[in-house]
Amino acid sequence: MSAPPTVSTVLSFEDARHTVEQHAAQLSPRGMETVDLLAAEGRVLAESVVADRNIPPFPRSTRDGFAVRAEDLSHLPAHLEVIAEIRAGEESENLPELIAPGETASIMTGAPVPPGADAVVMVEYSSVQGRTVEITRGVVAGENIVPTGAEAKQGTTLIESGTRLAEASIALAASAGNSLLLVHQKPRVALLTTGDEIVDIDARPGPTQIRNSNSYSLAVQVRKGGGEPVLLPIAPDEPRQLRVLIEEGLRSDLLLMTGGVSMGRYDLVEQVLSEMHAEFFFTGAKIQPGRPVVFGRIATPEADTEQSPKYFFGLPGNPVSTMVTFELFARPLLEALAGMSPHKLAFVYARLKSEIRVKPGLKRFLPANLTGEFEDSQAELVPWQGSGDIAATARANCYAVIPPNREVIAAGEMIPILPR
Ligand code: AMP
Ligand code: MG
Repeated sequence: MSAPPTVSTVLSFEDARHTVEQHAAQLSPRGMETVDLLAAEGRVLAESVVADRNIPPFPRSTRDGFAVRAEDLSHLPAHLEVIAEIRAGEESENLPELIAPGETASIMTGAPVPPGADAVVMVEYSSVQGRTVEITRGVVAGENIVPTGAEAKQGTTLIESGTRLAEASIALAASAGNSLLLVHQKPRVALLTTGDEIVDIDARPGPTQIRNSNSYSLAVQVRKGGGEPVLLPIAPDEPRQLRVLIEEGLRSDLLLMTGGVSMGRYDLVEQVLSEMHAEFFFTGAKIQPGRPVVFGRIATPEADTEQSPKYFFGLPGNPVSTMVTFELFARPLLEALAGMSPHKLAFVYARLKSEIRVKPGLKRFLPANLTGEFEDSQAELVPWQGSGDIAATARANCYAVIPPNREVIAAGEMIPILPR
């Protein structure tokens, strides 16, 4: 059977990225499960976490000092009568009912500010003699107090569903008393590497064979993107066997193939997908590395039970291309399948250490090192042998982004960086 012709669609980087983002926005995640708060890091929240009480639950002093009426300090030094000491966690019945004019209470950080007081003076501006304190610095009303509910009101949403959980959101969930959280199940991502020359890492490679490294970089990236990698056997450059493995891969929620998407005689991935009546959204992006990247969708055999059609990416086989194109294109789709709210790709900026010369026409993502100290971020390209050079990429900690219209970027220029 001859393959239906594949229409070649090469998009700019931005158009390709937006295409993926648009499809990602239509996706819904898999089922849900409950996890212990301590195991929730990196998981995607499938419920919203609500404040079970005001935060803070009382007007909280942010300093050790004296709870005062600000107007009592209009003439300095002021002398006030100390009527109580309030510790953090002080029981309500021990709190003074009112700080009356001319009175104060000594108060600790995290303790409730009693009625009547509207500010806290830091202990550094006070000296106590018996039951009197002399205060040498004025305050404005509200100073050093966080009012009841100022951080969050009871009943309001603290963490939106779709949030990827990290230390701050987990602390917030803890502060609202959640020891268990409802999260999305991780999408399963099939990793199918292709190529007659590719062998398993446990096999002894022949003189012209190459060990499979792409499945391992992708497994890491899939996990970082919130998914569960499923490694398939290596597919040879032979259409029937390739098709069987593609069909196996389509049982997962997303299929990532590597290799076989260039223009060579044995690059069969697009041909086989076309025979399977796949829909292609793009078959290339004007980037380097990773130009032959393919994104599409295909109906699955078990259409009734699972999400169908399913999305696939054909990532170029060169190891750096595989890593870069995953990050630029596959990641947003995976994150959507994982239930994460969409977010745009953001670059940071750094000062280029030494001049770069490139041929214009492609947007480049070149392995680089981000160094420098404090606010002085500097970036320098890692010397490399091109998009097959894993060793150079392993020495890099980011990608320097070079726009397609530039030939020379001078040392000292601020350039965008895609962190890794
Ligand atoms: P391809 O995209 O199939 O033309 O492959 C481009 C280059 O990447 C070739 O040099 C391949 O040997 C290499 N390559 C393809 N797949 C892998 C893999 N899984 N691990 C390491 N290198 C690979
Ligand atoms: Mg190949």
